[in-house]
Amino acid sequence: MLRVAIAGAGPTGLTAALELARRGAQVEIFERRDTPSPFSRAVGILPRSMEILRPSGVAERIAAEAVRFEGLIIHRGARRLARVPLNFDAESRIWGLAQDRTETHLSDALRHHGVEVRYGDPVEGFAADATGVTVRSRSGETRADWLIGADGVHSTVRQAMGVAYPGHDLPGDWSIADVDAEGWPNAAWFNGFLLPGGDVCVVVPLERARFRIISSRPDALKALPVPMNVTHIRRSGSFTISIRQVERYRQGRVVLAGDAAHCHSPVGGRGMNLGIADAAELAQRLLEGRMEGYAASRHAAGAHVIAQSERGRRLLQAQRPPARMAVTGLLRLAGAAPPLGRALARQLISG
Ligand SMILES: Cc1cc2nc3c(=O)[nH]c(=O)nc-3n(C[C@H](O)[C@H](O)[C@H](O)COP(=O)(O)OP(=O)(O)OC[C@H]3O[C@@H](n4cnc5c(N)ncnc54)[C@H](O)[C@@H]3O)c2cc1C
Repeated sequence: MLRVAIAGAGPTGLTAALELARRGAQVEIFERRDTPSPFSRAVGILPRSMEILRPSGVAERIAAEAVRFEGLIIHRGARRLARVPLNFDAESRIWGLAQDRTETHLSDALRHHGVEVRYGDPVEGFAADATGVTVRSRSGETRADWLIGADGVHSTVRQAMGVAYPGHDLPGDWSIADVDAEGWPNAAWFNGFLLPGGDVCVVVPLERARFRIISSRPDALKALPVPMNVTHIRRSGSFTISIRQVERYRQGRVVLAGDAAHCHSPVGGRGMNLGIADAAELAQRLLEGRMEGYAASRHAAGAHVIAQSERGRRLLQAQRPPARMAVTGLLRLAGAAPPLGRALARQLISG
């Protein structure tokens, strides 16, 4: 029987564990935290992720709880530029659910297959040989055929492999606030505001009257150029954006997936979805004994998503007047001409 050890119970590690366990592999999944994370970073769940999570029944549970995004409304300052519907067919549907809830659905399904996350038992190192890997965690040693490093941007597994994480950090901090608000118009729409100086502010629906505000300015709530009737601030803070990707996703019997292998800006909402796709392909290849192509295939997929997300971020943050005018014109056109709007939407959700 295939035995796989996984470091990290974020969306990537949980998806890999679930996809392996439901098809008969023996899985040990280690997590540094003592309890599941109560925080949500990712919200948007793309059609491809739902397709991956359908056979395990997780997609159905997500759909029962999530917000169905109707589309994008883009503004320049407070003035509306374009309204682009996303929900024009089943393949274009984007779901919104706080990441901790997505993780809960994944770990509940995993438990159904007899696997419990080993909370408070971080992976500390490993020794790999030709036949397998001896994984050293806080509680002792575990022998497996493969080790998956799905332990996020600061991956211990990646560091123990001696694999570099080349790339760069964007200057300055971005801000985030999760709030309850009443009477927000178009509450199932993603609202983006292009601000002077190349700054941006976005409002993402989390639940009927709960929203996430993210801005490239230091205070997301202050950056919002239109009034919002905020009744409660659940959390606020800041984060830096790194754009990085490993060159090697695999070293012998140790492989990387998710944020341990790549990270980029939240523009396009792709990070978690890319991690879920890494995990699904990895599980499939491990089960079929086809690991040769994993590194090349996922490196290419990651590079594509990073390039796409960066193109979008640079366009939205364009500062030079000709570029800003071009973005305004393109968005207006996409809002006015439904086929162009649909093409833009397909571009956003592809991959
Ligand atoms: C503000 C913000 C908004 C975002 N919005 C979106 C969005 O809308 N859509 C989207 O797709 N993505 C989004 N992302 C990105 C998304 O959150 C990440 O890409 C995603 O969480 C990556 O999942 P992961 O499982 O690879 O890593 P993580 O979620 O970081 O999980 C890694 C896990 O490994 C654990 N761990 C660490 N070290 C060890 C160890 N040594 N042993 C065992 N466990 C360990 C950690 O505790 C953690 O639980 C956003 C990110 C940010 C910051």
